[in-house]
Amino acid sequence: MTEKIARFFEEQRPQTPCLVVDLDVVERNYNDLSEALPDARIYYAVKANPAPEILSLLNRLGSAFDTASVPEIEMVLAAGCTPDRISYGNTIKKEADIRRAFELGVRLFAFDSEAELEKIERAAPGARVFCRILTSGEGAEWPLSRKFGCDLPMARELLLKARDMNVEPWGVSFHVGSQQKDLTQWDIAIAQVAMLFRDLEAHGVDLGMINLGGGFPTRYRSDVPASAAYGEAIFHSLRQHFGNHLPEAIVEPGRGMVGNAGVIESEVVLISRKSANERKRWVYLDIGKFGGLAETMDEAIQYPIETPVDHDEETEPVVLAGPTCDSADVLYEKTEYHLPLSLKVGDRVRIRATGAYTTTYSAVCFNGFSPLQSYCI
Ligand SMILES: *Cc1c(COP(=O)(O)O)cnc(C)c1O
Repeated sequence: MTEKIARFFEEQRPQTPCLVVDLDVVERNYNDLSEALPDARIYYAVKANPAPEILSLLNRLGSAFDTASVPEIEMVLAAGCTPDRISYGNTIKKEADIRRAFELGVRLFAFDSEAELEKIERAAPGARVFCRILTSGEGAEWPLSRKFGCDLPMARELLLKARDMNVEPWGVSFHVGSQQKDLTQWDIAIAQVAMLFRDLEAHGVDLGMINLGGGFPTRYRSDVPASAAYGEAIFHSLRQHFGNHLPEAIVEPGRGMVGNAGVIESEVVLISRKSANERKRWVYLDIGKFGGLAETMDEAIQYPIETPVDHDEETEPVVLAGPTCDSADVLYEKTEYHLPLSLKVGDRVRIRATGAYTTTYSAVCFNGFSPLQSYCI
């Protein structure tokens, strides 16, 4: 945790639960990734954390933005961004929303199906379109499943079809899965895209852009490769598969841009045991799956947790759970979490690396709990 965040908690004693984001860390992440991938354009994936302060900062640093809805587009415009730096990257859009985005000046749209391509042609005539292909999601801690993308033969058909429509076939995108720690996953996808480029070129479709998606990780409880390692792997792979004929490359970091910039402070509501001789204690926090920690689903993302009594060497395994009356609101039961024996009700615990996918995942009023409060400092 940064000194700035520690000081904020100490001086402000904000109501818990709340998220505090250190904008200096976001700026550092942006600069690190730009340096690691000097030839790629960064489109920040707004859904990871759309706080206006973050959008304004990234806009000032020159970032472009990947958006998934009209309200996200409007937030990015409100932060001062021009529409030529906005991509409407959701492959599932209402036609009316495509039209609205087009009216707002957006000219770059994703698709992965024929019906979506036809919607774009009708609602955003002449716009640039890119086709998203499926990836396996292997190696990712938060894989994106088969919901997005189509297979290569279909991508080929659709891009050929786009050539004869009132849109500009502009590129191909993929996402290797979120929190991707396996650097080789990009190479697998880049090789496929390069083949598709060559194939289409032979048929008169000259694509100009490869969208390498997100997947850049945040450090949770274990180390992750540095941005530079991702940059090298990706650059090497682009060179190998595209040679000197490099298309414009874009990346869409979400988690990697903001994850490590945020810390949630939460209060221990209850500590209990289920029977007199059970070793595991249950520790209930005032934040859970519905308060912003949805990525603990299947215990996929394992946040580091700090307590005020971490100097106490006597620890015991715990089950960590949220405060709502829903039995799904358990954070970690299978994953090993040990907390000090001296931890008590009322203590404030800090959940680190929670800058991404927390405020946006918090329910509006489930069980009467307020959405996750957030501060950008
Ligand atoms: C969510 C999303 C991202 C961001 O993914 P991270 O793994 O958080 O970097 C990028 N691109 C698209 C299309 C997305 O939906």
